Amino acid sequence: MKSSIHFFGEGKTKIQDNCLENIGYRGRQAVALDKMKLPILPGFIIDSEVSSTFDSKKLEPVLKSNLGKLEKKLNKELGSKENPLLLKVVVSPNLQFSNYPPIHNIGLVEPSLEGFIKHVGDNFALHEVHFLLRGVLDIEAKIAELESNEDRLKSISDVLKIIEKQIITEENSDGKMPPAATQKKTISNALELFPDEFSKDAFFQLNYILERIKCLIQLEEKAEGAIGDSETALLIQPMVYGNYGKNSGSGLFFTRNIVTGEKVLQGTFFKETFNELGSEGMDVNKVSKKHIQTLKEIRDKIEKEFKEIRSIRFTIEDDNLWLIDQRPVHGKSTRADIRVLLDLLADKVIDDKYAINSIKPSQLNELLHPMVDTTSVKGFKSITGGISGAPGSAIGKVYFTTEGITEAYKEAVKTGGDKNLILCMAATYADDVKAVEMSNGVLSCEGGYSAHASVVARQYGKVSLVKPDMKITGKKATIGNVTIKEGDYITLDVPYYGDPTVYLGTADLIEPDPKESGLLDLVALVKKYVTDDFFVRVNADNAKSADLALKFGAEGIGLCRTEHMFFQEERINLFRHMILAEDKKERVKVLNKLKTIQKKDFYEIFKVMSGKEVTIRLLDAPLHEFMPHTKEQLDSFKEYLTSAGINLTKSQLDERTQRLEEVNPMLGHRGSRIAVSYPEIYEMQISAIFEAAHKAKKEGVEVLPEIMVPLIMNSNEIKLLVFGKKIEGLTYKGLLEVSDEVQTKAGDDPIPFKVGTMIELPAAAVGAGEISKYAQFFSFGTNDLTQTTLGLSRDDFNAFMPDYTQFDLIEGNPFQKLDSNVKELIKIAVRRGSLTRPDLKTGLCGEHGANPDNIKFCMDAGLNYVSCSVYSVPIANLAIAQMNLSE
Ligand code: PEP
Ligand code: MG
Repeated sequence: MKSSIHFFGEGKTKIQDNCLENIGYRGRQAVALDKMKLPILPGFIIDSEVSSTFDSKKLEPVLKSNLGKLEKKLNKELGSKENPLLLKVVVSPNLQFSNYPPIHNIGLVEPSLEGFIKHVGDNFALHEVHFLLRGVLDIEAKIAELESNEDRLKSISDVLKIIEKQIITEENSDGKMPPAATQKKTISNALELFPDEFSKDAFFQLNYILERIKCLIQLEEKAEGAIGDSETALLIQPMVYGNYGKNSGSGLFFTRNIVTGEKVLQGTFFKETFNELGSEGMDVNKVSKKHIQTLKEIRDKIEKEFKEIRSIRFTIEDDNLWLIDQRPVHGKSTRADIRVLLDLLADKVIDDKYAINSIKPSQLNELLHPMVDTTSVKGFKSITGGISGAPGSAIGKVYFTTEGITEAYKEAVKTGGDKNLILCMAATYADDVKAVEMSNGVLSCEGGYSAHASVVARQYGKVSLVKPDMKITGKKATIGNVTIKEGDYITLDVPYYGDPTVYLGTADLIEPDPKESGLLDLVALVKKYVTDDFFVRVNADNAKSADLALKFGAEGIGLCRTEHMFFQEERINLFRHMILAEDKKERVKVLNKLKTIQKKDFYEIFKVMSGKEVTIRLLDAPLHEFMPHTKEQLDSFKEYLTSAGINLTKSQLDERTQRLEEVNPMLGHRGSRIAVSYPEIYEMQISAIFEAAHKAKKEGVEVLPEIMVPLIMNSNEIKLLVFGKKIEGLTYKGLLEVSDEVQTKAGDDPIPFKVGTMIELPAAAVGAGEISKYAQFFSFGTNDLTQTTLGLSRDDFNAFMPDYTQFDLIEGNPFQKLDSNVKELIKIAVRRGSLTRPDLKTGLCGEHGANPDNIKFCMDAGLNYVSCSVYSVPIANLAIAQMNLSE
């Protein structure tokens, strides 16, 4: 029997592995901390074999000898009138969760109460008796209930109610103890429920409590029909008090700053105080030199052991510091997590694999976007729910039109006013991109994750929230019973996990800083485990995003959407003019102007991306996105036309616009189909690419363009676009001929380039074997491929997705998580394409690219890369590294 009681607290507890099962979760915790040689309170564990057959008579000698050891260590004595040893009993089942709260202050009997009062005063001592009684009466109440002893249960409940009212708890931390006489009365009423010796003999009291706990455990086992199955051990430890005279106190702290991860203790010390309830406290770093040193040693050992920030509670009693407990911390930031991991890595406590696997890819969103400081929004009116288009947090004044936000922005610049703006529109179009760029975030109600507003917001690092239940009328939005008017300040909080929220008012935001936050260091580490076999590219259409993506670990550009280059204010009217031109002559004139602009953009991108592949997608503009939608846009376009010497009446302009109108523009005249009708458009773009490439090359830049044609349906289309065609007097000038012409003009060696295609239609996936005869690479445009495979409009699906989810008809949003049939098509295309062209390169550039599940599929399916928006690049890299490390 002796071997079944385990003493701990001397830094050398030895428990055989096969006994660890018998000491319960809390017992194992105590032993582990003891092994770390931390200043934990000593104690002993009565293991589950003994506790279930607990016989106080037989156990008395062992109990007494262990208590003797505790008395010696604490220099106190059980039941003493001078310096009494008080104890706590912790029930320690094998599971982390325990139904039994610990019982404190055991040993408080008449003589020892006198001794205790000398150290802590009358009031506190009586309070602690209440605490002891509450603990034991809780057990008694459960026993009475299981024994169906109604009368006893009632008496216990009556006393418990009074005790509950009198003690100070977290909920009742401002509460004051009633006068001593009242307290004594409550205590004496309670004691009537116990045998006489309970309040007189400390050892009897301990034994009695142990017996009652055993009784309860057995009754519960009986009730559950599990007699003899007890896995519950009992842990006995001394109590210490932070109000035990002058050199005493209590404290709690995090091992580091839980927001920044800075290695400074973050917490509070309560001098000469039992605990934090109702006390002010001081910075924990201000405790005496001797103790701060010990706390730092505790911090180092705990972080080394648990490899994360932990929260620690300690007590100093009479100048002796004791570690009371340590726990995981909820609500610490990812930045802090990363800092700890990088420090532990530098100290060789953990290896790369441990550090990389400890951060969830999606957690990085926290470092890439501002986050709401949740303490700053208490009391704000708020509306929760909606579809997360782009995560992060944004504050600003609401405007309902692009013109409105532009005016507000200009005014703010002119007057030094507030440039924090939020765009609120049903949906956005090409014209509104500049408004998205000017805003901190977009609140919309049409579409979802792959809607224009969300895609553009992600691209520009803005926040996007889609609230399908929002109604916009003029300059007013209504969501439920909340109304937002133009000029109101709101906060969009779109977390990666959990529900998004709109707060009415301005929250405090915590701004991201990739360097400070440790993100760049993490990226550097992660990149060691991302190989040439499978890597990440970025969807970027300007040099600034490309540059940032490189810092985030992108290996080239996987999708440069050239139509996005026309979104800027001074370019959009030129573009409109081009698509609304009356004839080829007029179109070519405008195209020449656009060419100068595009050439400059390509040149800048090539320079940033020197030595890395840049996949440029030729124009894929669903034309309706570019049409003027509002009166202001129409006026601006007319003004432009007039300045270009083109005077059109309203009806002439209407007529041109109507000519382009389509019933179903997403399946209409878009992508490479435009180039079949208007070859001069791609010709301009191809010339611009090669002119820019030769210019950059001559300056020593290593240029690696990959030209990509969108929305290919069959091999004939790509063959025409690449090789050109002569038929019945008609000539189509293909890409190769244009590139040759530019090269001859540049008087330069050829640029090493590739030509490939997007696979966005089921027909293209199935016909991949033929198509790859003319395409050196495939990039799966899974936004359109999902849309066309499932026949679901990417812009309208969210309106009825909830019904589908309700009836379990789909597994998640197919515009975020690849649908199984889309995956099947990708596999078919890779297989058929590679059979024709064994060195076919394949990637995925839809909005699915940063999701770890999709990435895993792409790796397994043999793709070479995923391409995603700039702020998703670190997330995708981390997911890949984790998968590589798990192999
Ligand atoms: C796609 O369809 O997945 C794609 C990347 O192209 P876009 O989103 O521009 O249509
Ligand atoms: Mg597409």
